[in-house]
Amino acid sequence: MAFAPHPDDETLGCGGAILQKRRSGAEMQIVFMTDGAASHAHLISHAEMRLMRQREALEAVEVLGLGPAHVSWLDFPDGELSLWRAQAVIRVSRLLQRHRPEQIFLPYARGEHSDHVATHSIVYEAIDRVGLAATLLEYPVWSWRHWRTAGRFLRELRTSVAIHEVLAQKRAALERHVSQVRRRNGDPCWRTLGDIDQGEFLACFFQDYEYYRRVDLWKV
Ligand SMILES: [Zn+2]
Repeated sequence: MAFAPHPDDETLGCGGAILQKRRSGAEMQIVFMTDGAASHAHLISHAEMRLMRQREALEAVEVLGLGPAHVSWLDFPDGELSLWRAQAVIRVSRLLQRHRPEQIFLPYARGEHSDHVATHSIVYEAIDRVGLAATLLEYPVWSWRHWRTAGRFLRELRTSVAIHEVLAQKRAALERHVSQVRRRNGDPCWRTLGDIDQGEFLACFFQDYEYYRRVDLWKV
């Protein structure tokens, strides 16, 4: 089971691993925590963005080898997940109980966006509540931006998944998140993931490996 704070985090953070798992026939579920509606709030209405991101996410997930039945939408407001913590813990607990995943992909917490930190702690609390024994794989997204100054990053993210064979598909999946990678109607004010750090940020997700912090709960 993979938890994505926003549509696109599933592809950026663990899209390669998802592709590898589908290749080997593993079952997967993806859970989108927020609607992602605030990514370009000054340029487009929440309602329009919400629909666009949901449609894009379904297309991206299809490229990753999954259909709508493998997706759960919790639909909390983008940027405000921590305010919905109690409700989110209940809903995540239900999903964990229903699917009993052996491995859980979730956001790494240090140096991350607030919804990523909230997702991390909500998933941990729900796992604890359900009493699940699982392997957790925490993926970085925004912490890639300052990884050079964070020695901890290198010490903690020691698990890697080789994704060279599925790199082209991972790129194709990210391309489906059109609102995040293309300027809408050519609008120069419309920021894309490729604009961040002159493309260096995006390049971090298309290396030969994805990096994770691994926690084996039954060994704790
Ligand atoms: Zn995100």
